[in-house]
Parts: sequence; C-alpha cells; structure tokens
Amino acid sequence: MESQQSHNQLNVIFVPYPSPGHMIPMIDTARLFAKHGVSVIIITTHANVSSFQKTIDTDFSLGYPIKTHLIQFPSAQVGLPDGVENLKDGTSNEILDKITRGIRMLQDPIEVLFQEFQPDCIVTDMMYPWTVEAAAKLGIPRIHFYSSSYFSNCAFHFIMKYRPHDGLVSDTQKFTIPGLPHTIEMTPLQIPDWLREKNPATAYFEPIYKSGEKSYGTLYNSFHDLESDYEKLSKTTMGIKSWSVGPVSAWANKDDQKKGNKDHLEELGEEAELLNWLKSKENESVLYVSFGSLTRLSHTQLVEIAHGLENSGHNFIWVVRKNDRDEGENRFLQDFEQRMKESKMGYIIWNWAPQLLILDHPSTGGIVTHCGWNSILESLNAGLPMIAWPMFAEQFFNEKLLVDVLKIGVPVGAKENKSWNSICVEAMVRREEIAKAVEILMGSGQESKEMRMRAKKFGDAAKRTIEEGGHSYKNLIQLVDELKSLKKSKAFIDKTD
Ligand code: UDP
Repeated sequence: MESQQSHNQLNVIFVPYPSPGHMIPMIDTARLFAKHGVSVIIITTHANVSSFQKTIDTDFSLGYPIKTHLIQFPSAQVGLPDGVENLKDGTSNEILDKITRGIRMLQDPIEVLFQEFQPDCIVTDMMYPWTVEAAAKLGIPRIHFYSSSYFSNCAFHFIMKYRPHDGLVSDTQKFTIPGLPHTIEMTPLQIPDWLREKNPATAYFEPIYKSGEKSYGTLYNSFHDLESDYEKLSKTTMGIKSWSVGPVSAWANKDDQKKGNKDHLEELGEEAELLNWLKSKENESVLYVSFGSLTRLSHTQLVEIAHGLENSGHNFIWVVRKNDRDEGENRFLQDFEQRMKESKMGYIIWNWAPQLLILDHPSTGGIVTHCGWNSILESLNAGLPMIAWPMFAEQFFNEKLLVDVLKIGVPVGAKENKSWNSICVEAMVRREEIAKAVEILMGSGQESKEMRMRAKKFGDAAKRTIEEGGHSYKNLIQLVDELKSLKKSKAFIDKTD
C-alpha cells in the first residue's frame, strides 16, 4: 500500500457492520476522514460494497485518499445464496441467523488485514467488540463508532449499572432511569428483552456495550446543539473520550444535489413519478412513513396502518418492505395502493425509498419513524417534526429523547420492545391511535406549530455544526490532529525502544 509507506500520512481502517443503519453513517464518516487528508481503507464484502462503491470512486477521482478492500462473505459455509450479506436481506429468521453467523466469521480475515496493513488507528462498529483486543495487539487506538444517540448510550449505561426495573411488580409499571439530567420514565416492556432480564442474547449484547468503554474513544453521529447535556454526561460517565461529528450523512453529501437512491436505483426506477406526485402537493402537507431497513411488520399491523393513514385524511408516502406474503395479504395492499392512487392521497413505495430526497422536499411536512437514529437525524436535518413509533433495540430511548427532551415528537403509543428479528402477530398500535397522532402532527393546532418551529431550529443548528468553525467540524479536525500526534509519539517511542 503506497500511502502506508509515507511516514506522516495517517492511515485509518474502517470496519462497518452490514446493516444500512450502521453502514451508511460509517461510510460517510470514512469519507469525511478522507476529505480531511486521512488515508482511508474500508473493509467490506462484495455484496455490501455495491451500495457505496460508486460514491467512493467519485471521492477517489476527486483526489481523496479513500478505497475499499473486499473480503469474501462465507455464503457457502453458512448456507446462503450469493449476494445475501446484509441484515436488510433477511426475509426470515433462518436467513437472518445465517447472515449473523456469516458476519461473525469475518473476524479472522479482518484481523489478517489489520496485520497486513498495519494501520495507525481502526474505527470499528460497536457490533465488533473483538476489535478491542485486535487494536491492543497492534498497539493502536480503537475508535468505537456508536450508531445512535448519546441519550440512548447513557440510558443503557445507567440501566445496566443500577437495574432500576428489577423488583417491579409488573412489566408495565413505570420506573425512572437513574443518572439522567431529565426525569425519564419507562416501563420494563419498553427496554430490550436482554436488558429486562437475562436471556441468551444478554451474553451477546452486554460485551458490545461494555467494549465501548474499553476503547480509546467513541465517535457519535450527533451534534452539540442537539444533545449537549448527554454529550457532557457521557464524557463524565463512560470514562473515555468522545467526539460528536454528526450529522455525518448531511456533511459528507453536502455537495450532492441529487440525494437520490444512489446505489438502490434498481429498486426504485420511479423517482420522476414520485417527484411529480410530491410536486403536486402543497408545502409541508405530506407525511412520510418509514420503519427503516430492518423492521418487519405483521399483516394485521399493516392493515391498521393503512386504515389509520386513510382515516387521518392527510397525504402520505408509505414505504412497505417486500416480503414473502401470501396472496391474500398482497391483495389487500395492492387494492389499497390502487385506491390511494385514484384518490391521489397516498403514494406507496415498495421496499426502498430515496429517503433523503423525500425528507428534503418542500411538500414533506413530517415523518412517522421507528426512531432509528439515522432517520431521526435525517428528519431533523430537514427540520421536520416526527411521530415516534419505536420498535426495537434503543429506539424506545430515542423516542423519549424526541418526545420528552427535545419536544419535537408525538408518541404513537408503542408499548413493547420486541426483539428486532421478531414479527408480532397481532397489531401493536391500532388505527385510531395512528390517525390521532397524524392529526396532532399534521394538523394546524398549536402543539404542531411549536414542534415544527423547534424542529426547524434543530435543522438550522444541524447545518451550522458542519460548517467551518461549527462544533462537529472542529471536533473532526481535532480528532484527526490528535491521531496524528499519537502516531508521531508512537514513532518516536518505536525509534527509541
Ligand atoms: N433508508 C433509506 N430508504 C429506506 C429505508 C431506509 O434510504 O427505504 C435509509 C435511511 O435513510 C437511513 C437508514 O437507511 O439512513 C436506516 O437507518 P435507521 O437508523 O433510521 O434505521 P435502521 O434501518 O437501522 O433500523
């Protein structure tokens, strides 16, 4: 590797985790490092690289020192067809299980590459706790990329430490999360099942959360004006450094006018039709409904959403994931789509939407989100208030941040945190609750006006923070400088050894 031969060049390897919510922000962070002179290698697999190689090639052709290095996904060993290498491709639990096993098997080849490339630092996803030891072996810093809010990491930390939910008489009794500057109440049912009580998943997730504290520092895709209390709290409680460098996707794609589906074009192909539909609507009149890349909803829940949206009377775009549904289930959605087409009230996108394009469109006025952190940041960046419908993992903490702390979200009333790969057979939220939340957010009431105003202020702050002199901008520069100094002092120690 020619660039590795240069003494002063800082060489950083990025190891993203193959699910869109983890991969998209890490690739954009890697691009930001390269745009600030760091020589970057992203380690990934063949099917995963197809979603971002074009972007990396463009950056490289513009003179930024960034490239990808591919390793083989062990498809045959785990019994998967070629090309199924990302959690978003898991249409059943069996497939998801195989993908997860395949991801775990990537550890050895990645460690071999660390030895071969001898980077000055690794930036790895939180889901790879083994990289703590790998970095220690190489004598280099491991930067842990936490792909959600400061708020959620603090909540996890204090709930794991004090277990305030132990000993409650029921799963629906409220407890207050200790240690936080705001009074945040939750029920045991709203926290992940592995944290609620020990189960086989606890042994998997606990080391992931604990590995953060064994890192040199944590990178957050967040920004100072959004979570300053929790940025401060995390610095004092986690005992390691942290840098807020978000919103990374808005920053890395600042000059990209298209913001389209980029590498998912084959799944869309209807961008012009969608844009025409959006253009025909009044400003801020369309609700965008998306549950991210992993959520799988039961047919009963889809029916409730369809009726809830229709009954609300507001325009909407709804992203429905393709699934192996039976004929009867497909029929309902197809009839619904047809009806919405005729009334021009709703637009259904199958499987994958050009989310940034939709959120940034002037006709879009709000979003129903599962509270995935990237969707929250992308909506905030567009200055949009939200309906919070958390599903799994840390999403219920993010809901609290939106509703109780930032006051830019309407809760739909989700009560139970289900394991991310489970489908609940019955509907978790009824059509009346959905329609009511939509009415509050998209109606002309005072509450909606105030939320909209606050969301716009965060949107402005999100834009300022990535400009020269902004908090996130300065944090990234400071981190790169710090890593350069570490490299220099290490070179000095190596010479004097
Ligand atoms: N995304 C998209 N189109 C879709 C669904 C998701 O572009 O139809 C992108 C979205 O913009 C975000 C990411 O995928 O960047 C999803 O991340 P998030 O943290 O919101 O949720 P997750 O998928 O991890 O649950």
